[in-house]
This record gives sequence, C-alpha cells and structure tokens, in this order.
Amino acid sequence: MTEENRPAEARNTAGDVPGPQPALEIQGLAKSYPAERNALGRVVRTVDAVRGLDIAVAPGETVALVGESGAGKSTVGRLALRLIQPDSGRISVLGQDIMGLGRKELKAIRARATMIFQDPYKSLDPKALIRYSVAEPLLAQGGTSRDEREETISALMDRVGLAPHYLDRYPYEMSGGQLQRVAIARALSTGPEVMVCDEPVAALDMSIRSHVINLLRELQRERGLAYLFISHDMSLVRVIADRVAVMRQGRIVECATTRELFERPAHEYTRELLSAIPASHPSRRTFRPVPRTP
Ligand code: ATP
Repeated sequence: MTEENRPAEARNTAGDVPGPQPALEIQGLAKSYPAERNALGRVVRTVDAVRGLDIAVAPGETVALVGESGAGKSTVGRLALRLIQPDSGRISVLGQDIMGLGRKELKAIRARATMIFQDPYKSLDPKALIRYSVAEPLLAQGGTSRDEREETISALMDRVGLAPHYLDRYPYEMSGGQLQRVAIARALSTGPEVMVCDEPVAALDMSIRSHVINLLRELQRERGLAYLFISHDMSLVRVIADRVAVMRQGRIVECATTRELFERPAHEYTRELLSAIPASHPSRRTFRPVPRTP
C-alpha cells in the first residue's frame, strides 16, 4: 500500500515512536484547572486543559505539538517534566516512570530533560548575571566544582554563539535573541537528552528566528536531543518537525509524519490550520547557518 492511499486510521498515533525506546513517553495524560470559585473559595467550575493524551518522542526526533491558542499545548509541556502535577496518566523520561518520583529524584530527571520557554525575559532571573543563570541548573544538581562550572558555561556560551563577556551582563542589557541563546545554554548545562521547547521563537523578531531555529537543529544533530516542540506556527513546524501532533481542546486529533500531515491532512481541523498559513508565507524558507554574535 502506498503512502498516498494508506487510510488515516493506519497512521502512526502520537504515542507510537519510530525505534525501540522513546526518550519521552506520555500515556493517558489529563489535567484540569480551577476555572471558577464561589464566595467560599470552593472550585465550582473546572477547565479540562488536557484530556487523556498520548504522545512519545524518540531520541533525536522532533515532535511538534500544534493547535490553536488554549488547546492545552503548554500544559502538556509543563506536565511532561512534572513542573505541574497531572491529574492522571503516565509519563516516562528516558525509560524512567516519573509519576511516582519524589523531589530529589525529580531533580535528577530535570537534569536530563529540560525546557525552554517562549519569553526569555520571563524565564531568566532579571536580577541575576547571565553567568549565574547559565550555571544555576548545574549548581542545583550539585557535584561540580566552580572551575568545572566555569568551563562548562564558557563552552556553552561559545556553542550558542555568544562571546564570553556576555556572562557578566544582566538580562536587560541584552536583546531577545541573545537572551534566548542564553536560555538554550542554560537548558543544555546539565547535558539533557530531552528538551521541551515551548514556542521558543514566537517572541523573537522575525529576522532572528531562523538563527535560533538553526541553532536548535544543530544542537539536536550534535547531541541526539529529543524535542517536544510546541508551536502554533505551521510553517515553522514544517521545517523543524519529524512528526506533528495536532491538538484541539485537550486532545490529539491527528498525528503523522510532517510530510504526510502537510500533504494529506486527515482531520478537518488540521486542514483548517493548514489553510490558515498565508499563501506567501515562507513555509519553504531555507534556514541559513547561524552567524556568530561578537
Ligand atoms: P497558547 O498557545 O495560547 O499558549 P495553549 O495551547 O498552550 O495556548 P494552555 O496554555 O495549555 O493552552 O491552556 C489550556 C487551557 O487551560 C486554557 O483554557 C487555559 O485558559 C487553561 N489554563 C492554563 N493554565 C491555567 C491555570 N494556571 N489556571 C487556570 N486555567 C489555566
């Protein structure tokens, strides 16, 4: 049976990964938030942000999680690393079930699975020198000397294209693009194998988005990183993702390889998302190598 006439139901589901051992595996994940409280502070209405979701990412793979605002994408990203607590479901990081882990064990897992957020101005401590922000996850893990940390963060700054003198700056002294590079260096400091990227370029100027995306792709190739890449930008997803999971109202409605999804969307909602890409949008844009920042 050819790719073209394979029925939509036969496509891989979001929970199936190519290869034996997923880097990140989520099954039956659910999370609701309080939406309304009465005068006594009791919750009288909840919103089901995530409703029984399966998704898995193989080592070295990028799985994009796409969907309209409010679909539950960021909630999944935070749940994946247990930055917030799921109501139910199973989450496994690098083969380890993290649902029952205590604080200490979770800390160790968060060295191997990290996250970058949309807005580096918010994700980095505004009062801390960049040196501290990059080194802080290493410090929190413990077990490294000051010299080892210095060596690691200098090498990381170099790798993300920032000169060493930026280590002695504060966030307000840097541009959004430079700060997102700092956030990437920080996320890499503990040598992770899984990274949740929550709209990592959405807050950046168009002109520097491709540089940051290129950097993420290079880092993935070098380190075999697994990316759960949250985005609402279908044209970006087209160039970065191996597979795409389309999320709507807390559920995945379709998951397929990027090519399959763009060429033969099976779900009406996916077709709507794709039709919203402007015709002239640079979905065929080619990303160029990242120039070094002096
Ligand atoms: P966006 O692309 O706009 O960031 P999203 O797809 O990432 O949206 P979420 O931010 O995960 O969606 O939100 C999913 C739903 O959960 C939304 O209805 C949102 O209002 C609600 N929600 C998210 N965080 C909270 C919270 N802390 N308290 C209450 N409701 C929340």
